Amino acid sequence: MPGSLNHINLWILDEEDRFAIVDTGLDIPPAREAWEKLLAGPLAGRTVARILCTHFHPDHLGLAGWLAERSGARLWMTRGEWLFGRMLTADVRETPPAEAGAYQRAAGWSEARIAEEAAKGWGRFASMVSPIPVAMVRLRDGDEIAIGARSWRVVVGSGHSPEHACLLDEAGKLLIAGDQVLPRITSNVSLSLSEPEADPLGEWLASIAKLKTLPDDLLVLPSHGEPFYGLHARLDALAAGHLGRLDALHALLAEPRRAVDCFMTLFGRQIEDGSLGLATGEAMAHLRHLEVEGRAVRGERDGVYWYRAA
Ligand SMILES: [Zn+2]
Repeated sequence: MPGSLNHINLWILDEEDRFAIVDTGLDIPPAREAWEKLLAGPLAGRTVARILCTHFHPDHLGLAGWLAERSGARLWMTRGEWLFGRMLTADVRETPPAEAGAYQRAAGWSEARIAEEAAKGWGRFASMVSPIPVAMVRLRDGDEIAIGARSWRVVVGSGHSPEHACLLDEAGKLLIAGDQVLPRITSNVSLSLSEPEADPLGEWLASIAKLKTLPDDLLVLPSHGEPFYGLHARLDALAAGHLGRLDALHALLAEPRRAVDCFMTLFGRQIEDGSLGLATGEAMAHLRHLEVEGRAVRGERDGVYWYRAA
């Protein structure tokens, strides 16, 4: 993977003489080449039984359609994730919708920065994703799926994406965690343009609590970083990180602030242009959560949201 993420972990599960794939990589030439090498090398002579994707983000779903087309295998996803991917690939336009500019303005972006972003068009997601199959097999929270000798339970989380599927092999003590639990970095939790009144950070914290009901002795297989033990400690650290940032933000809101005024408090550094979108989404998610909790009040002036402590 390009950028600071550097890589994504994908999983290949034995399924008798065939194999199942979990997550697929971005649709970029180096990722296609990596698959070509695998399929012609260690996996030669075996067929793809099915393709599972934990969520719709392009590094996970990007090559699902390409792999499905060449193998004939079905795509397995939760309905929410599949619909999101289908929606975003179906909506490519030259000019972003008015809601995009309104969201950026609300967060405190300058008009010049909004115009610069608008000039890039709308629908970049589709450029990183091969056409998503129009049919899929639905994964639901709690489903048990037999794959080879193992049984995997679907554990759905939310906040990083709408209906993220983790896969739990309780007997084998394995958790394919996707982006729901990462060992070193925190998953991006953004207030989405598609649901500006939602509370994704609330959903994320609830998902952390839900995952803490799983056994602590699982080997966690994350999408980025090394497999690790210590699920509960990592979940506690992730929750504490968000709660600490919420408290710091609450203190900052003694004076009215916009989302762009919160970057130093949230991230401890200035935000470069390339990560402005992600940082803005994350700041908006934290501010929105304080508002939902009744700890902050949102005011609006000329389309700009100003938050202050309640
Ligand atoms: Zn993701």
